[in-house]
Amino acid sequence: MVGVSAQTVFDRLAGPQSLNRMLYDAATAARQKARGAGVDKQNAFTQSWLFTGPPGSGRSVAAKAFAAALVCSNPEVVGCGRCEDCRLALVDAHGDIVHIIPHELTISVDRMREVIGSAATQPTVANWRVIIIEDADRLSDGAANALLKTVEEPAERTIIILCSPSTDPHDIAITLRSRCRHVYVPTPSAESVTRILMAEGGISEDAARLAAASSGGHIGRARHLAHNQAAQIRRANILNLAELIYHGDQAFRTVNTLVKGIEAESRDALAEVEKAESDKLMVSLGMGTRGKGAQKLLRGTTGQLKDLEKTQERRRTRFLRDALDLSLVDLAGIYRDALLISSGAGISLTHPDFEGLSRELAERVGNEGLVACLDAISVCRESFGFNVRPIVAMDALVGRLRKAYRVS
Ligand SMILES: [Zn+2]
Repeated sequence: MVGVSAQTVFDRLAGPQSLNRMLYDAATAARQKARGAGVDKQNAFTQSWLFTGPPGSGRSVAAKAFAAALVCSNPEVVGCGRCEDCRLALVDAHGDIVHIIPHELTISVDRMREVIGSAATQPTVANWRVIIIEDADRLSDGAANALLKTVEEPAERTIIILCSPSTDPHDIAITLRSRCRHVYVPTPSAESVTRILMAEGGISEDAARLAAASSGGHIGRARHLAHNQAAQIRRANILNLAELIYHGDQAFRTVNTLVKGIEAESRDALAEVEKAESDKLMVSLGMGTRGKGAQKLLRGTTGQLKDLEKTQERRRTRFLRDALDLSLVDLAGIYRDALLISSGAGISLTHPDFEGLSRELAERVGNEGLVACLDAISVCRESFGFNVRPIVAMDALVGRLRKAYRVS
């Protein structure tokens, strides 16, 4: 086995071949190192990594494939994708891989201390213990500092992979960044996304193409859209909003329904994990015990219960904001399509199935109005960062769009 072939986990990645090859070489070097053998490509071996790329580019998929290759036990192929270790790694169930996917807006110092603890232990079955920290841009300053030493000098058998949107100091502490080898995972082309969806199966070529086009190279979204009816309906609803802007009341009602729908979805999606957290806390606090100390205990624990509630609340907010943000990206796509149509540029549309509506908007709203629509969407997306209530931000958006359409 030399190089990356159709038989490795790297073949499932949408990234460029050069990137897949580099990761394959690194995993191979790590295996040689772990066996005490000479390493063919000495500079391929690194223990601290930083994977960056825009959301949906597949940076976490790449990190996971790399982790699988590091724990792979197939003696012939590095990262075979078929052995027990690869399969467990790819479904996030491998005992030697710690995969941190933060649900909160920030990753706390305490959480990071746990991670650092496991990073210091030897792997159980595999050659390496692999720590993946997704959304490392959410590390609090304290958490980033706590992690610094581990990243600088990982334990002998530990490999650390941080994932972050970019190397911008706002996203990742310079101190952490400078101690890692950097890998950039670019946004895949619509063709790559189509190819991956088709390879995964269960979908027609047309549906794969449409999902790939309207997700702007975001694989996770494309996959979700291709297979999830609720997502298809939400997309259609937000795109139809571009038409309803002409009919004020209906537009306000639509955004209201949208926000409520996502709120309900976030409650459903997070209910299980929230209940498990509450139960765990109750048990660890000894709640439900009777006797003398119980009342006193109860008073002392209100703080911890409140903290948990706050964390859960923040997570729901983040879920809602992220989902709304994606809907706004969809909506922006239709105005961009309208601009493309009126400029006569022969570039493929983001929402080819809504071409009729884009044509109509190109005619009725005009270029200046369309640019104002895109600005209005940017303002709305930014306002989520300032903790404006989602429904307020969305209502304001409808108001601005109506202005851009010159109907108010
Ligand atoms: Zn394997």
